[in-house]
Amino acid sequence: MNPVRVRFAPSPTGALHIGGLRTALYNYLLARQTGGQFILRIEDTDQKRYVEGAENYIQEALSWCGLDPDESPQLGGPHGPYRQSERRNLYASQVDALLKAKKAYRAFDTPEELDTAREAANGTFKYDAATRGRMRNTISLPASEVSQLEAQGAPSVVRLLVEPGQTVHIKDIIRGDVTFSTDELDDKVLMKADGLPTYHLANVVDDHDMRITHVIRGEEWLSSTAHHVLLYQAFGWESDMPSFAHLPLILKPTGKGKLSKRDGQKLGIPVFPLSWDSKSAEDRLEGFRERGFHPQALLNFLAFLGWNPGTEQEIFSLEELVEAFSLGQVGKSGARFDFDKAQWFNQQYISEQPASELIPHIRKALSPLADEDSTDRLVQMAELYKSRVKTYPEFRDQLLYVYQAPSTYDEKTVRKKWKGKVVDVFSKLIDSYHNQSEWIPDHIKSTTLAFMEQNELGFGQVLPHLRNGIAGTGNGPGAFDMLALLGKDESILRLEAAIKAWSINT
Ligand code: GLU
Repeated sequence: MNPVRVRFAPSPTGALHIGGLRTALYNYLLARQTGGQFILRIEDTDQKRYVEGAENYIQEALSWCGLDPDESPQLGGPHGPYRQSERRNLYASQVDALLKAKKAYRAFDTPEELDTAREAANGTFKYDAATRGRMRNTISLPASEVSQLEAQGAPSVVRLLVEPGQTVHIKDIIRGDVTFSTDELDDKVLMKADGLPTYHLANVVDDHDMRITHVIRGEEWLSSTAHHVLLYQAFGWESDMPSFAHLPLILKPTGKGKLSKRDGQKLGIPVFPLSWDSKSAEDRLEGFRERGFHPQALLNFLAFLGWNPGTEQEIFSLEELVEAFSLGQVGKSGARFDFDKAQWFNQQYISEQPASELIPHIRKALSPLADEDSTDRLVQMAELYKSRVKTYPEFRDQLLYVYQAPSTYDEKTVRKKWKGKVVDVFSKLIDSYHNQSEWIPDHIKSTTLAFMEQNELGFGQVLPHLRNGIAGTGNGPGAFDMLALLGKDESILRLEAAIKAWSINT
């Protein structure tokens, strides 16, 4: 069997949607699993939809996620160039071959003539075997008129000649046998009047030229595949036809309808890998990276949007995905985009990250407050809080107290468990803290335990107040760790201030 060669073929029309990244991931996984090649091809033939910066965005998104191609516009490769705008000669020569073989024809209809035909048919017009005889093309017109038009340089497009009454069979790895009747298919334009190929022509010519073995792409391309199969036949390339796999849609968080760019903006959740800055501020798109996600967590989440390994395991490193992934386990029905689940994956990854990797994220989240902090102190923060955040920016909410004394206290904690009389007792604890020489969690713990025993108090009566006193919250990691992190003098100052505030209020 030929070695697997797959391609990710985005059009540079804007930021890469999360569904595009999933397509790239599945292609990548198949390539790595089989020792094959993963190719990045930029489909930039539609000049009207071309967006400056989009190609860079795509490259950066792939590289942030570690989905590195083997062949690409940047890297080059044996079947390049990898930008369609640089491959025009190839499309022109292939279209000539189709014209010669009478599998395609030229059509001279002007946009106005096409509009008239559409209006006359009430929007049901299809350029096909039934109508092409009435239109102006090399099939309907006498040879003399065609020569005249050509001599005048009249603009023309090239269309695929679709024979009616035939069935097109598509073997889809995910969907099984899919059939289309050619009666439903129009004579697709292959080459536009400006000499540029359409998506269909360029896509098929390139897949063939680049020796692509598997076409893995979104479900929205399934209907185009019928024309692609006809093109393979027209070129006489049936024996080289790739296998097809059309991935299920990604659905809105409600499960109803396709996830769109607007959903992200409406719900305040990212649906793009990286942020995309557009000229108008309201059009800025938020990215998973900027929202504080680990790229592996995003990939892990995306892998499950369509694929089901059939086991309980949910956390898969990229290497494990390469090992476990199979197109045969990709479902047909749409996969719901559940942002809470994405955050859950991220939390799992952050809690497993070594402190050294978390330090830059903590510094950034707290900037500029933590700029001068020592690595040791940041390691302490990372270890203490890494299992308590779902995204990196949350380190700020969790750790702000280290830099700013609380201005309010958690009332529930103050009211529910605090008894006015304990205020005096608590002052004794602060006294023993004063006398403690080494301010480390173990020693703070022994001092506190001794105090609790003497005063017949339990953990629940003491620890929430310690947290509340220094950080203004009843929850958090170990109270002794928090006290140690804050330092002795600052802890005592804050506890004294808290006791004062509480005795006034109780
Ligand atoms: N250029 C198409 C896109 O933007 C490629 C579809 C395909 O993979 O064939 O998704």
